[in-house]
Amino acid sequence: MNTNPQMQAVLSPGLLLVLSAPSGAGKTTLARMLTQRFPEARSSVSYTTRPPRGQEKEGVDYHFVDTLTFQQMIEKNQFVEWAEVYGNFYGTSREIIDHSFTSRGIAVFDIDVQGGNKIKSKFPDATLIFILPPSMEELERRLRQRATDTDDVIRRRMLAARSEVEKGVTSYDYLIVNENLDDAFDRLRSIVIAEQTRRGRVDLSALKLPRD
Ligand code: 5GP
Repeated sequence: MNTNPQMQAVLSPGLLLVLSAPSGAGKTTLARMLTQRFPEARSSVSYTTRPPRGQEKEGVDYHFVDTLTFQQMIEKNQFVEWAEVYGNFYGTSREIIDHSFTSRGIAVFDIDVQGGNKIKSKFPDATLIFILPPSMEELERRLRQRATDTDDVIRRRMLAARSEVEKGVTSYDYLIVNENLDDAFDRLRSIVIAEQTRRGRVDLSALKLPRD
């Protein structure tokens, strides 16, 4: 048996990348840029019981399902995690994780902090990245600009945002302040490349090295 702790760290070949942020911080845009830039990256499309907003499309932004279907999926153990957020249910399907492991790909999860921490507890080498707005005032301005929500919804979202930021900054591996989209994406890209380069994730099979 190998007793050298340095040699024991076995990372999963695929990268599980969780992106969380209060809504309005630019997380969805950054997640989209990531999947465009890294062909091996696939976004996890969550299941939700909330109705589509604006231009949202089935199978792209979410899988929109009714509460009964969601409940049946829980019973069949089809979610790696699920949660109730703002009175609606959201869940992450297991399928994309299996795919990222077999293909050495990147599974990108655009979910909240409680979901991210649940993924980390099941997969400890998952990488948790929290996207922050430059200030809470700027976040509120961005939410109002979207104009898809009523004042009351915006107030609720600002309260939730504060609590989400507090949890994210204390439990996540990396924090990116999104003041400028290009700079934020540079940081995100650097994190992904560094995580892919960690010992245990690099495919060394072609080197035909002796196994310990
Ligand atoms: P929205 O309704 O604005 O799209 O999302 C509301 C919140 O639910 C966001 O914080 C989003 O990150 C979170 N969310 C989306 N999908 C999932 C999921 O599969 N699991 C969990 N735990 N949260 C999710």
